[in-house]
Amino acid sequence: MSKSILVIGGGFSGITAALEAAEVGHEVYLVEKRPFLGGRVMQLNKYFPKLCPPSCGLEIQFQRIKKNPNVKVFTLSEVVSVSGSAGNYEVAVRIKPRYTAPRSCDLSELAAKLSANVKNEFEFGLSSRKPLYMDAPFAYPGRYVLELDHVSEEEKKLLSKSPFINLKDEEKTITLNVGSIIIATGWKPYDVTNLTNLGAGKIANCISNMQMERLASPFGPTNGKIVRPSDGTAPKKVAFVQCAGSRDENHLSYCSYICCMASLKQATYVREQYPDAEVTIFYIDLRTPGRYKKFADKVLADEKVKTIKGKVAKVEEDIATSGVWVTAEDAISGNKITEKYDLVVLATGMQPSLSGESVPFDVQMDEEGFVFDSQDKGIFVAGCAAEPLDVMKSAQSGTAAAMKAIQTVRGR
Ligand code: SF4
Repeated sequence: MSKSILVIGGGFSGITAALEAAEVGHEVYLVEKRPFLGGRVMQLNKYFPKLCPPSCGLEIQFQRIKKNPNVKVFTLSEVVSVSGSAGNYEVAVRIKPRYTAPRSCDLSELAAKLSANVKNEFEFGLSSRKPLYMDAPFAYPGRYVLELDHVSEEEKKLLSKSPFINLKDEEKTITLNVGSIIIATGWKPYDVTNLTNLGAGKIANCISNMQMERLASPFGPTNGKIVRPSDGTAPKKVAFVQCAGSRDENHLSYCSYICCMASLKQATYVREQYPDAEVTIFYIDLRTPGRYKKFADKVLADEKVKTIKGKVAKVEEDIATSGVWVTAEDAISGNKITEKYDLVVLATGMQPSLSGESVPFDVQMDEEGFVFDSQDKGIFVAGCAAEPLDVMKSAQSGTAAAMKAIQTVRGR
């Protein structure tokens, strides 16, 4: 019977689960696919309930991980096979090379010498980056990562002279023995290009809510200035389109739980930066769970924040001005509305990261890709791998999953 626990996914729920189990004495392996921990929260400007920046909650968690020898972190890593049963799993983990020395060092000057500019997935395509990079200044581990595929032979010679680069690093596969597994693989924004009537991916000034988070972030592509991607100008009229992909049988059939609150939060980003700007929120239902209602009431009391109950039928570009036309039917007056905005934000739904993926573990998933606990197998789910949640509830579910995993490995 192994007392060790594997946590797959290094976002907020996975980190919480790993720390809870490690701090009561269990050896925990935390396996993350990306080069850095923190998951989606790292990409937010501010998060509920306290509207803190991500550094505020995550930096404490990173410190706890750093100080706890029970937590072994594997980044750039993926579980490739799982065999065995509750109490005794053998797990193969493939680790990609990072090509940098195992210590923190600012390699930005070296990175600037590289010629390639790679689409920045952390910024949802709003900017490009060098192939030697860190996602954010407070990223963990605080080590740059090098993507060798984008580096020329000449540049490799230059890089090899740096004591902080290890071009000999190689992919390896390790085997872990664990008693229980926690799946905390999180969520991805729904692919908005599937929403063809909303012009996503085709209209420069029609962005997703996660792109809005990056625009508003001081560490984002515009250093926190909310501007139109087409020309860098300040938007005076901004529309939010709710349920973009969610609650729609052709896309995501469920409610994504937090995107109404995300739009209300983002309305405050716009209003704080531009006191004269007007915001309109097109919604079907405004979901304000629990104590979030107070926050919603406060935002909606602002006379420059307007709501229109009505499903948006189409979003089109005004070629001459790069403005965006929004057409919707006002469900209360019955009138058809067509109005031009400077910037449109799609409140994009949350899709489980495992949706459409084949997974190397034997678990039950629903048709949307959400995973269920498998008590008899000692495999448990945390965070948005189980259902759409906010950060606070994700952390709570990480704690709950850790408790169940501990009970499994302790044989209770
Ligand atoms: Fe629609 Fe709001 Fe639910 Fe998101 S939270 S799916 S925007 S009702």
